[in-house]
Amino acid sequence: MVSKKTWNKARSKVIKAGICTMCDKALMSNEGGWIVNANKDYFCESHKANFFSCFDEYLKQLKQWKELNR
Ligand SMILES: [Zn+2]
Repeated sequence: MVSKKTWNKARSKVIKAGICTMCDKALMSNEGGWIVNANKDYFCESHKANFFSCFDEYLKQLKQWKELNR
C-alpha cells in the first residue's frame, strides 16, 4: 500500500462508524471493509469474492434461523 505523505491524519475526521455485530471489531469511517444492513447492524465485509466475512457468516446464520423458525 502506498501512503500519501500529504495526508494529515490528525486533521481528517475519522470516526468510529460502528462495531461489528459478529466479532466486536471497531469499524472506522475512513476504512472500507464493512457493511451496514437495514437494521443498522455493522459487519466486516471485505467485498472480495472467495473471502468469508462476518457478513457472510451473519447471512448464513440468518438463513439457518429462518429455516428453523418457519
Ligand atoms: Zn467482524
